Formats: sequence, structure tokens, C-alpha cells
Amino acid sequence: MSADIIDGKEIAGEMRQKIKDRVMNLKKKNIVPGLSVILVGDDPASQVYVRNKEKACKDLGIKSKTFRLPRETSQAEVINLIKDLNKDPEIHGILVQLPLPDHVDPDVVIEAIDPSKDVDGLHPVNMGRLIRGQQCLMPCTPHGCIIMIKRTGIDIKGKKAVVVGRSNIVGKPVSIMLLQENATVTVCHSKTVDLEKETREADILVVAVGKPKFIKGDMIKPGAVVIDVGINRLDNGKLAGDVDFESASKVAGWITPVPGGVGPMTITMLMHNTVEAAERLC
Ligand code: NDP
Repeated sequence: MSADIIDGKEIAGEMRQKIKDRVMNLKKKNIVPGLSVILVGDDPASQVYVRNKEKACKDLGIKSKTFRLPRETSQAEVINLIKDLNKDPEIHGILVQLPLPDHVDPDVVIEAIDPSKDVDGLHPVNMGRLIRGQQCLMPCTPHGCIIMIKRTGIDIKGKKAVVVGRSNIVGKPVSIMLLQENATVTVCHSKTVDLEKETREADILVVAVGKPKFIKGDMIKPGAVVIDVGINRLDNGKLAGDVDFESASKVAGWITPVPGGVGPMTITMLMHNTVEAAERLC
């Protein structure tokens, strides 16, 4: 293996210490940052994510309030709960755990969140502000990716960045953030004609496809920074990223592992956004 590992757990740990300090400062002003998570249904992966978020809140002194709603909950009921939380002065962040059951439209639900409490950064107001380069609550996973790239010490400016995947949650916002860091950005997706040609030219490669070990070492430029967003559960129960770590780590200069890469950063950025939303009240 030649690549250096970008250790998400370590970076997240350092960031959490700083977040803890910010929480302490808020508490001195009698403000306890509060996060509400809404979980509809019993998707096993979502339940794990929500438990991890509750634990992170507890560790950092953030108040968390989780609403576990049955699968049959109507869209109107979810929206009414969000409206109540929008008005609750003790709640600074609201997160709706995705995916939602088919009868609940995630776009409608996300738009019901007060943009100043949208700690997932997915509301059209925050997305729009992100595209315009204005201050906003930034989507957690993409923000975590940028911090990890910066940790390598490479200068993003002028680099060729390739993002594989164009979802609203990861691919699109991370492309915009890389653009704002002055990279030259190419976004690839399922209709891209020659994916390998694109990925082989990338100085920075961010992969968010949802297919285990999809990007192999021979698709990577030697020395590239590779950020693997994917989390895929294999038949043997183990987790794998979207990048084939074994072959990719022989070619890349830096690479994120799965688990222990982007995952811990995502939750940390959620905590960061919750504290930021609370600080704006001061
Ligand atoms: P989506 O399914 O929403 O998007 C997948 C993207 O991959 C789409 O844009 C799709 O293209 C593209 N794609 C699919 N097949 C190909 C192909 N053959 N070639 C090129 N592009 C392709 O996934 P998400 O963005 O939500 O998630 C991606 C992965 O990241 C998942 O494994 C998910 O679990 C993980 N994830 C991890 C997080 C973390 O905290 N670490 C947070 C969020 C997600 P098209 O648009 O054309 O369909």
C-alpha cells in the first residue's frame, strides 16, 4: 500500500473537542444547543444512524430529542411536528432522517423546516445560498469531504476534481464546494460515457455512487486524493465503500477508509451545524 490514510475518526475527534468548547461557551450564556431528529418507520440502517447521532449529542453536551414515528405516519403529521419544532426556542436544529416511507415526499418535508434550523443543509434556501457562495448551513457529508481533502495539505486551487455521483445529498453539493475552492470540477453519473477516462484524470476523486468497490485502482490517477463516501453492507455483513480499497490504496496518494472515513465526519458536521445554528441566536 502506498497511499496515506485520511483518518476520519481522528479528524472528527479533534473537531469534536472544539465543538465541545463552543457548547461550553454557549452554556455560559444559558443556551443549550438542541437537536431534534425525526425518524419515520423502522429502517434498520436509519435506526443505527439515529442512535449514533443521539450518542454524539450526549458526548458533546448537546440536548437531543428524537421522535420515532410509526411507518404509517402521514406526511401532514410529519409537517405539523416540524412546524412545532420550528417554533420551539430550545431546538436549534431539525433533521429528518432519510429515506422516508414512499407516501412521504422528502422534498415537501425538507421545505417545511425553518432554513435557520436546517442542520442537514438540504433546504432549498441553504442549497441556493451554497450555490451563490453565501453564508449557509452546509450539507454535512460534503462539508466533511472538503475538510478531509484539506487535511492532506494539498492546495485544492487549480486541481482537477472529479465527483462520481450527482445526488442532492452528496454529489451536487460537494461539486459546488470544490468549485468554490477553485478546483476545476467534473461531475459524473450513470449516463457518463467514459467514466474511467474522467476518473483517471482526477487529482481529487470523490465517489458517492452506492455500489460496493465500484472504483478500482486502475481507474485512479497515481498520487490522487480519493474520498470514498459510499457505505455498503456486503453479504458477509461487513461494510465496504464505493472504492475498492485494496487496489486503490496502491495507486492513490491519500485515501479514506470505510468504515472510519467520511462516516464519522458526517455526524461531526451535524454537531457543528447544530452549534452554529445555536450561536447565531447570540
Ligand atoms: P444516490 O443513489 O442518491 O446517488 C448515486 C449516484 O451515483 C447517482 O447520481 C447515480 O447517477 C450515480 N451512479 C449510479 N451508477 C453509476 C455508474 N455506473 N456510473 C457513474 N455514476 C453512477 O446515492 P447517495 O449520493 O445518497 O449515496 C451514495 C453513497 O454514499 C451510498 O453508498 C450511501 O450509503 C453513501 N452515503 C454515505 C454517507 C456518509 O456519511 N458516509 C452519507 C450519505 C450517503 P444518476 O444520477 O445518473 O442516477
